[in-house]
Amino acid sequence: RAREKGRNQYLLCSSEIKGAVKKEMQLTSHLYRALENDELYIEYQPQVSLKTGKITGVESLLRWKHPQLGLISPSVTIPLAEKTGLINPIGEWVLETACRQNKIWQDMSIPPILMAVNISASQFKNPLFIKQVEQVLKKTGLKPEFLEVEITESIAIMEFAEIVGKLIEIKALGISIAIDDFGTEYSSLGRLKKLPIHRIKMDKQFVDGIGQNHKDQAIATAIIDLGKSLGLSVVAEGAEFEDQVAFLKTSQCDEIQGFYYYKPLNAAAIEKILKNEE
Ligand code: C2E
Ligand code: MG
Ligand code: MG
Ligand code: MG
Repeated sequence: RAREKGRNQYLLCSSEIKGAVKKEMQLTSHLYRALENDELYIEYQPQVSLKTGKITGVESLLRWKHPQLGLISPSVTIPLAEKTGLINPIGEWVLETACRQNKIWQDMSIPPILMAVNISASQFKNPLFIKQVEQVLKKTGLKPEFLEVEITESIAIMEFAEIVGKLIEIKALGISIAIDDFGTEYSSLGRLKKLPIHRIKMDKQFVDGIGQNHKDQAIATAIIDLGKSLGLSVVAEGAEFEDQVAFLKTSQCDEIQGFYYYKPLNAAAIEKILKNEE
């Protein structure tokens, strides 16, 4: 009996895997067409200064509206794009669209804000990456000081010296650099101090722990203090509740990006908010 059950489980598993593989293959072939079919778009999530209460920047977040399956999360789209190499055209499209959007807002004489763009490890690794960024800035007319690239510790697939070299080149262009999801991987402090970065984005998991888990809360404070002592600004990701915001303010965190203030929104909604802030 146990054996029979085991066998059935195996069969179930196998067909589930087949199903999953088939689904991934279908999604992949759809993703190839998504860009030309205008199924991709960007939402922007504001980052709010805890000192002034004003929006200082937005992060661009990729959205895929599949014609049959509906909205597909970037946590599905991005890994798929990375696997297939589509991350290069898609990443370039995101970069260009986001930079152009920021320039459009500036041309409306809305006070200028920073546009943060996520860069995946394979994009960063691409030898053409820096050229692409330069071209996008030239094409869109956005000044480099209004662009920030967000990288994660996943770029550690590259040699450390190579990473530093690339970051120095990016910084030399006048672009800001942020480390995203900070604290989730093996953050080497010895390496951190050598990186020419401007900000760290504290991962949501530590923000979630504020008032809930004393260890996470201690780490949240430590990350803010670490940022301060290294001369970096600190953004907290994913704050949803008032007590979290109050704690982060007291701990002198610089900015918050979280549902407590704003969810990711389309460009038109952001435009309204920015206009009302003036
Ligand atoms: P991320 O870069 O860490 O972006 C922050 C994520 O946290 C976003 O999820 C955002 O919607 C979510 N978030 C922000 N505040 C809150 C909150 O208060 N509560 C909750 N529950 N969530 C919050 P999203 O848009 O689903 O993106 C997930 C991840 O996908 C991103 O994490 C990023 O790693 C990746 N991603 C998104 N767009 C791009 C892109 O254009 N390029 C690359 N390479 N990766 C992207
Ligand atoms: Mg990010
Ligand atoms: Mg993050
Ligand atoms: Mg994340």
